[in-house]
Amino acid sequence: MSTVVNPATEETLAEIESAGVEETDAAVARAKAAFPAWRAVSPTDRARLLRRLATLVEEHHEELSRIESRNVGKPIGGARGEVGMVAHVFHFYAGAVDKHHGETIPVAGGVDLTFREPLGVVGLITPWNFPLNIASWKLGPALACGNTVVLKPAELTPLSTMRLGELALEAGIPEGVVNIVVGKGSVVGQRLIEHPDVAKIGFTGSTEVGQQVMRGAAGTIKRVTLELGGKSANVIFADADLEKAAAAAPYAVFDNAGQDCCARSRVLVERSAYDRFAELFVAATRKLKVGDPLDPATDQGALISKGHLEKVQSYIRLAKEEGGHILCGGNVPDSVCERCRNGYFLQPTVIVDLDVNCRVNQEEIFGPVVTITPFRTEEEAVCYANATPFGLSASLWTNDLARAHRVAERIDCGTIWVNCWLLRDLRTPFGGMKNSGIGREGGDEALRFFTEPKTVCIKYSTERT
Ligand code: NDP
Repeated sequence: MSTVVNPATEETLAEIESAGVEETDAAVARAKAAFPAWRAVSPTDRARLLRRLATLVEEHHEELSRIESRNVGKPIGGARGEVGMVAHVFHFYAGAVDKHHGETIPVAGGVDLTFREPLGVVGLITPWNFPLNIASWKLGPALACGNTVVLKPAELTPLSTMRLGELALEAGIPEGVVNIVVGKGSVVGQRLIEHPDVAKIGFTGSTEVGQQVMRGAAGTIKRVTLELGGKSANVIFADADLEKAAAAAPYAVFDNAGQDCCARSRVLVERSAYDRFAELFVAATRKLKVGDPLDPATDQGALISKGHLEKVQSYIRLAKEEGGHILCGGNVPDSVCERCRNGYFLQPTVIVDLDVNCRVNQEEIFGPVVTITPFRTEEEAVCYANATPFGLSASLWTNDLARAHRVAERIDCGTIWVNCWLLRDLRTPFGGMKNSGIGREGGDEALRFFTEPKTVCIKYSTERT
């Protein structure tokens, strides 16, 4: 039995029977049985069903937003935005799939045709930080391409995904096509990875578990897409609009209480602008309201669990041991509100005077903690930005267009935002370099990774060969 808790209040939201290997095998068997009929549904009809699902998500927008806010402890405003995006994802892939087809290649004495075929049963493993969003990025393209799915949400936050499974049935997606299995990663996730009837794993989570996914998948030569951790830089040049950069920087790192793989948790500032930027950044951070996630005025809600709060606090202690100084934050807030007195809250924390190679600047903290480090030259900025094993994202602030292009080219990561903290469009690929993952989600990339190309070569002239 697993207890699902609201991290902002510690109240129990649900008790759920945890699935084991047997239930996972049964879900894979259901998905396997449903596959031939689902793949035979024409793309246009699959698109129609996905549109219906998108509309149902829109109709249940407030319900899903509140489930997400209560289960993850995230501000309701953010949850509403995320659920809006989920509906958009299903609309997007409904609109994309009937335009995703193969090629006709004339060859000597015949013709080659390529087809994009569904893979079969795909296993999707999702984390707790953006449960419904991340599920939709995988589920939308997987279903659109004709795959059937076994989806394992994080045990801490299964509620919105379970509701989405019900809405998928209500939309008319046949039984067995979408199977939600709630259970431990080490049991359900591991079984999906090793199961011979699962053709692919789409995983988002930590780099450590991502490595286990790769190792486990080797036994059945399973395809894997991995969206893993990050330690992203926010690079501020002195010629940038410092006011704008400082006003945006807190959102780049403290959004979702820093529990975001793209959190720009290492701010790198050109030395001549360092003091001014630090002052503006701390002032902007102090304005963030840490509070009840259901209060629309709240900027930062709770952390996901007591254990995770303690882990993040241990990094703040480590920062002090490593020679760092705290400019603001660092503590559990005195009082958030009566309802949330047992919640797992932490002040947004800004730390300075740390070496770029220290642990706090190298490891993914996944909480509301940011460091500021000065750099002298463009070369040094690039070197610092690249000085971790991760390569997911970065931000870059400058008014020099040539420099923006130059530096963007040299930072090793999947996405760089220039003069903004976030600009995300579903048509663009999203994913990481280095230890941040393999493969890309979004747009055509996702349609590619949920299909396998097949080439059919037809010889039509026997005389000529
Ligand atoms: P995990 O990588 O442990 O979990 C992500 C998903 O993988 C969950 O559904 C989890 O299941 C599942 N899982 C865990 N172990 C296995 C396994 N052996 N085989 C298959 N699936 C497994 O991340 P956590 O949620 O524990 O977070 C730990 C750290 O990971 C964070 O502090 C952060 O650094 C990073 N992270 C990165 C994310 C990102 O977006 N890139 C998202 C979340 C975390 P369950 O939890 O139910 O056991």
